[in-house]
Amino acid sequence: MKINTVTGQVDITELGATLIHEHVICSSPEFMQAFHPRWNDPAKVIPIVAERLKYIKEKHDVKTIVDGTPLSLGRDLDLLKRVSEESGVYIIASTGFYTGNCFTLCKASPECVADWLIDEINNGSIKPAFLKCAVETPLDGYQARVIHILSLVMKATNLPVFAHSNPGRKTGLQILDEFAKYDIPMNKIIVGHSADSLDLEYNIELLNRGAYISVDRLFRDASSLKKAGLAAELIRQGWANKLFFAHDGICYQDYMNSKTEVYAHEPVDRLAVVHDTVLPFLRENGISEESINMILVKNLQTLFE
Ligand SMILES: [Zn+2]
Repeated sequence: MKINTVTGQVDITELGATLIHEHVICSSPEFMQAFHPRWNDPAKVIPIVAERLKYIKEKHDVKTIVDGTPLSLGRDLDLLKRVSEESGVYIIASTGFYTGNCFTLCKASPECVADWLIDEINNGSIKPAFLKCAVETPLDGYQARVIHILSLVMKATNLPVFAHSNPGRKTGLQILDEFAKYDIPMNKIIVGHSADSLDLEYNIELLNRGAYISVDRLFRDASSLKKAGLAAELIRQGWANKLFFAHDGICYQDYMNSKTEVYAHEPVDRLAVVHDTVLPFLRENGISEESINMILVKNLQTLFE
């Protein structure tokens, strides 16, 4: 099966170890429109972010990232393509929306917005192959509208969605309920950030509904070991086939920008916590290479089936 990356179609078995939710660059669309290319000058940004991807490829053999940046956070397909070429890492781009108050999205019909997204997925010169929504507060009308739009897109394209959730408020369950209204299969949904709560029961509830979960927002502090502990327990209970790992790392964020300089937002090893901390912990705690390979490599293939 072929998947669209920002550099073209790749057989899904070639994608290798994959981080399911990262951001090459996050940016304000308003500032980009007004000030690009002085704002986020590609000549300055691309080497910075490419260095961070090269690092995980060379040190840890990470072959692919899913860039989870939706339209409302300044997704830039041309830039992603150049970063992929420069770093040698496959990038799967996303389309969709974050929380917010996009005037056009509120006024246009869900069918109209979905048509634009579907057209880009099918006919764009650079094609996104992943969807993104977010339910941060208890589900509001805007976020429900985004899920309605993405449900239309999923029916037309069969693409999976990474849903940003707020585990403290258990919005993962609301996300699944909302997609269920449109008969979207739960095995096309990844509930993002759900491991942040360290709440085993809540995560199992999501998994029992048929969704995937992502153990992400991994940083170089004690919280990553706690999340690794949660992952180990889920794997022991037989859920390795429903987990993904990622950092939700932002390689470069535009508010660090100034008129004359670009500052790297994250250290060069920002996207290496999975390999430096989580995987060693899992191995020390008796988790098999087969389970690790399933999470890093195989689950992406199942998700796209
Ligand atoms: Zn994110």
